[in-house]
Amino acid sequence: MATNAPLIMRIMALSINTAKRAGVIIRDVLKQGDLGIVDKGKNDPQTEADRSAQRCIIASLTKKFPSIKIIGEEGGSDLNVCDDWLVGEQDEAFLKQICPAAWQDAKPEDFVIWVDPLDGTAEYTQGYVEHVTVLIGIAIKNSAVGGIIHQPFYKQSSGELGRTIWGLKGLGTGGFTPVKPPAGEFIITTTRSHSNALHQKAVDVFNASKVLKVGGAGFKVLQLLEGKAHAYVFATPGCKKWDTCAPEAVLEANGGTLTNINGEHYEYHADVEHVNSRGVLASVGNNHKELVEKIPLEVRQAVGAM
Ligand code: AMP
Ligand code: MG
Ligand code: MG
Repeated sequence: MATNAPLIMRIMALSINTAKRAGVIIRDVLKQGDLGIVDKGKNDPQTEADRSAQRCIIASLTKKFPSIKIIGEEGGSDLNVCDDWLVGEQDEAFLKQICPAAWQDAKPEDFVIWVDPLDGTAEYTQGYVEHVTVLIGIAIKNSAVGGIIHQPFYKQSSGELGRTIWGLKGLGTGGFTPVKPPAGEFIITTTRSHSNALHQKAVDVFNASKVLKVGGAGFKVLQLLEGKAHAYVFATPGCKKWDTCAPEAVLEANGGTLTNINGEHYEYHADVEHVNSRGVLASVGNNHKELVEKIPLEVRQAVGAM
């Protein structure tokens, strides 16, 4: 059904099911116990779950959409995967949604799909599994437009494990109930494993009522969307386009904003540098510009934003 749906809708619908399948792989690797940890750099681990989840996602999306550019965190992947990892079914409920007019005619060459098969790897290896997400971000002509954030370890009230959230600009979000953060407070969510003195200066300047330190860009944006925090501050380079593409699209589909610390959106074309060198500032509500202006000059200069 819906094979005639616009390309963005078919990519989103397959990405929803692919992210869920990757989530099962991530749970299975943890259950089986041998994480196969490799250090990609300082504070940058990779596990068997990152590698296998990426192969599942990239092989499934490539098989269905061979002409679309896909960039995954874990580099070039062996696409020869077992049938059990190859997802071909699209999420039928998503396909019932109406595609926003702006994306209806987007062609394969307009797209780049940014894949973070496991966001929050450090936390995954340390037992903070609720911080882990699978991120599939869909860019059209340079901008983050659609995103899937899957939480493999989210406990549903039914007892079932896993939750899948989607967002498409112009359409909205699904898979969760958005909540506004509490009025009269200012809560920041930020990194728990990649801080430094300048980043801390940027956090301190907000004089927040609470600072939550959690792993992953996906989980921090979910905290904004579920009313747990007002702003996500990361005033240092280190996170990459695959960390921010899906979270930016989901957040902005729900009225929030995700930019660098200078208030500018990142670009997501295929040749863009992978690192988000000017940090991340994300917020809900409509005071994003005020938040940007609070970031100290010294911090902006340090990341080349001034
Ligand atoms: P965090 O907020 O520290 O959990 O980081 C969000 C995402 O950016 C995760 O995927 C991290 O692995 C990545 N990241 C942030 N800073 C660095 C860094 N200095 N080196 C490598 N990866 C980083
Ligand atoms: Mg990540
Ligand atoms: Mg990752």
